[in-house]
Amino acid sequence: MTVATLSDVLSKAKENKYAVAGLVVLGWEDARCYAETAEDLGLPIILQAGPGCRANTPVPILGKMFRYLAEKSSQPIVCHLDHGYSKEECIEGMESGFTSVMFDGSKLSLSENIEKTHEIAELAHKNNISVEGEIGFVGYNEGAASQSTDPIEAKEFADKSNCDAMAISAGNVHLQTNTSSSIDTDAIEKIQSLTSIPLVLHGSSGIDHTLRRKLASTTNVCKFNIGTELRKTFGDNLRKKMDQNPNIYDRIQLINLPLQELKTVTKTVIENITKF
Ligand SMILES: [Zn+2]
Repeated sequence: MTVATLSDVLSKAKENKYAVAGLVVLGWEDARCYAETAEDLGLPIILQAGPGCRANTPVPILGKMFRYLAEKSSQPIVCHLDHGYSKEECIEGMESGFTSVMFDGSKLSLSENIEKTHEIAELAHKNNISVEGEIGFVGYNEGAASQSTDPIEAKEFADKSNCDAMAISAGNVHLQTNTSSSIDTDAIEKIQSLTSIPLVLHGSSGIDHTLRRKLASTTNVCKFNIGTELRKTFGDNLRKKMDQNPNIYDRIQLINLPLQELKTVTKTVIENITKF
């Protein structure tokens, strides 16, 4: 049984200069595929359920699913709730078996964000659960624009919010379908000169693998959230294989069609940032 907290895996990653993949889960099949890949590689991962996943499957079911996979694994697996927008959402995650919750107060004022993140962190820490906060705003491809993290505000947020990991905005953008993001490494260095908290980059599908590896091995970025790269692998291969297999109609057979390709890409994603 290796149910881990975010704090467990990120403190080791920071100390040993690697990063851990925050893998965006949409359902049972991809979650199981990620856990099997981590087991094959002998490396830790973070399974994360974001708002899209939670809109489709209730949080208590996702909590049980993640815990089941983590308990069966010999590798550390973090059961993480991604982008909780309220205290209530975070509490539901904590009560459902998640070992880590992200409170996304990035749209609030600095003082409100600190206050709410702190409140959630206090509650979480009493139950040995980790909290990720966000400062600055990571925008969305073809959606809301980013607001870069101000290093001075980041220091204040890290010092006062009591969170265990801090998501920052430094050129990373959610939902990128190609690796064209231009990351402001100077801003990352400035932030880590002011605070030693492990850093998180959301929208890492937009960052090319060479840069991810470099950031993992040379900066305090200890968690890369990867969603679109994996969702695209699943969807593109599912479509292709359905065309090639017009006689398959069974849901379980259909949904298993792209899993080998998903496993191959997941393996590359994890190894690239975690194994040096
Ligand atoms: Zn995100």
